[in-house]
Amino acid sequence: MMRPYNFSAGPAAIPAEVLEQAAAEMLDWHGCGMGVMEMSHRGREFLSLCEQAQADLRALLAVPAHFEILFMQGGGLAENAIVPLNLSRAGAVDFVVTGSWSQKSQQEARKYASEVNVVASAEDSGFTRLPDPATWTLSRGASYLHICSNETIHGIEFHQLPDLRALGSDAPLVIDFSSHVASRSVDWSRVGLAFGGAQKNLGPAGLTLVVVREDLLGHALPACPSAFDYQIVARNRSMYNTPPTWGIYVTGLTLQWIGRQREGALGGVAALEQRNMAKAALLYEAIDTSQLYVNKVAANCRSRMNVPFFLRDETRNDAFLAGARERGLLQLKGHKSVGGMRASIYNAMPLAGVQALVDYMREFEEKHA
Ligand code: PMP
Repeated sequence: MMRPYNFSAGPAAIPAEVLEQAAAEMLDWHGCGMGVMEMSHRGREFLSLCEQAQADLRALLAVPAHFEILFMQGGGLAENAIVPLNLSRAGAVDFVVTGSWSQKSQQEARKYASEVNVVASAEDSGFTRLPDPATWTLSRGASYLHICSNETIHGIEFHQLPDLRALGSDAPLVIDFSSHVASRSVDWSRVGLAFGGAQKNLGPAGLTLVVVREDLLGHALPACPSAFDYQIVARNRSMYNTPPTWGIYVTGLTLQWIGRQREGALGGVAALEQRNMAKAALLYEAIDTSQLYVNKVAANCRSRMNVPFFLRDETRNDAFLAGARERGLLQLKGHKSVGGMRASIYNAMPLAGVQALVDYMREFEEKHA
């Protein structure tokens, strides 16, 4: 069956193979007589698939042994509170604001951390440029520094994570990788904690992934809810409370799908990274060479996952979207706070889907020239 191409920012397209496998196993998982949604999270069937998902994630993302992988709930927005509840004991919390999501994160942290500093902001560029790390004024003895490594709404991405040690700081770097997890490799030597919801690159909404360095466990504020205390979650192997079992299962299937991906000699996340770069290059090229479409983000930080673009003639927005829908190109409308269009091209979007979008954009432009 040929499905439409779905450009949603999240919840987002899931590979058809994954959905088909989940459908085939819906009533009876591996001959045990139960579907995954019906199993005890403490039974051997669920424990085996949960451990497999964690092991696959560790292998595919090359997560070192001194990091814990936690399966939590509440999404990225809950982590905006959970991170300071766990990590803000030592001192000021630093933020680099590069778009709506890091803006929200710093606002939420003010409820929990005694001191919050925005040490750099991209606001005066309209969130089209990343502030150069050399200009960040880091707080002395900060508990951590938070960045959103891919801003889903503004389409601005750190292709390389900042090296805080090189900036003279030993504060752990916290990254919100909600919208680029598993789309590229992560340099864990620069990271203290990474969090993200599963609903873009990994699976259905409901599961939140946290990857945290061991030495950052055990520092929660007294008011931190037990179910959100990273140390308690880690000690209970993400089973302190009932975990989002369906989300973990589908994420596990997606991780197996990632493991099967190949591009030339590359496999897994490296293959996807290569493919994602080719997809993004194709789309930005089409935008930059057109008279109708525009994207204002600087070339060195354009998101490879979320590509916002605007029609110079905004009166054509509805016609553009209607024509796209007719051709099976779904959910291209931009976020309400910025308007225009946005094509989210996560791992599950094949190059052929981006090509179909680019063909349609050219056709629409010619028709309306
Ligand atoms: N951070 C980023 C970068 C996001 O894209 C999102 C959701 N789009 C969030 C945080 C919030 O995630 P959730 O809705 O799962 O809380």
